[in-house]
Amino acid sequence: MIVVMKQGATDAQIDHVIERIEQLGLRSHVSRGQFRTIIGAIGDKQPAHQQILEALAGVERVVPIMKPFKLASREFHAENSVVEVAGVRFGGPEISIIAGPCAVENAEMMERIGRAVAAGGAVMLRGGAFKPRTSPYDFQGLGEDGLKLLRAAGDRLGLPVVSEVLAAADVELVGRYVDMFQVGARNMQNFQLLKEIGQAGKPVLLKRGFAATIREYLMSAEYVLSRGNHNVVLCERGIKSFETEVRFTLDVSAVPVIKEYSHLPVLVDPSHAAGRRQLVPALALAGIAAGADGIIVEVHDRPEEALCDGPQALLPEDFRQLVDRIGRLAAALGRGLSRPSSQQPE
Ligand code: PEP
Ligand code: MN
Repeated sequence: MIVVMKQGATDAQIDHVIERIEQLGLRSHVSRGQFRTIIGAIGDKQPAHQQILEALAGVERVVPIMKPFKLASREFHAENSVVEVAGVRFGGPEISIIAGPCAVENAEMMERIGRAVAAGGAVMLRGGAFKPRTSPYDFQGLGEDGLKLLRAAGDRLGLPVVSEVLAAADVELVGRYVDMFQVGARNMQNFQLLKEIGQAGKPVLLKRGFAATIREYLMSAEYVLSRGNHNVVLCERGIKSFETEVRFTLDVSAVPVIKEYSHLPVLVDPSHAAGRRQLVPALALAGIAAGADGIIVEVHDRPEEALCDGPQALLPEDFRQLVDRIGRLAAALGRGLSRPSSQQPE
């Protein structure tokens, strides 16, 4: 349930409510809004708890949250959450674009592609160093060496970096190099990993599992949030369907559904949904039109040589054109395009 404090409730009243919540054996989570403070009470609740809390000074009302996800729900936090990653904002009025190769392959390509996506309008650089490949015989990524190359390219270009962490045991290592963790579709329900990331104190891009319902997805976000990490950005990347013309089916409806249920920022990944580059721009634009806060997209300048996902990588020029179209669509929707923090006016 959530305790909505009266406008102007004092700090002492807020502290007292927190104390009572904890005495009842529940955990509290405070969210201070511009006008009022909301306190989440999470745990094994008894019917009497609502009345006890409602009677406290400064409390306006106590609302039970019916959805199984609590901290992720809009009932808990009515306004959109903005997640900031090293100066890049997700979930605000602006659309943010993350781009880069599927996998870090070597220093040279990381520099080349990094430069191309930075020039094309990306505000964050992606690159996998631990790759979750369907086949054990496929390129598995460069591991820590790959993270070093990604970090170096990001630093030179002034772009924050995001990379996937595959296992709970790697969270500390990956966290040394990235600004944002990525949890991939195949790990969306790796609860041990989610718990570890919940404690890691760094933002996370949590992708939707390709066979997960929206509710299951939001429960995975809840794992991270409930461990104290509130910097969660969601990403719809396509689900399994009977259709074989695309790699996965981008669930465009998931975007407005998640926006209805949750305050968390939502991106779309048109690359893994499409599986081939021709479809990527249409899916990216559809996602933004549906209300997504940005995209994460794969770009490669020599896709025929790519060690991973070459067929779905946009060429740098296609990327530049796509960013231009997203900018125009964003303007039509009353939104803007976010710019790298290094290019922000003072
Ligand atoms: C990726 O972004 O590199 C990736 C593997 O994506 P997903 O987990 O969505 O398949
Ligand atoms: Mn990929």
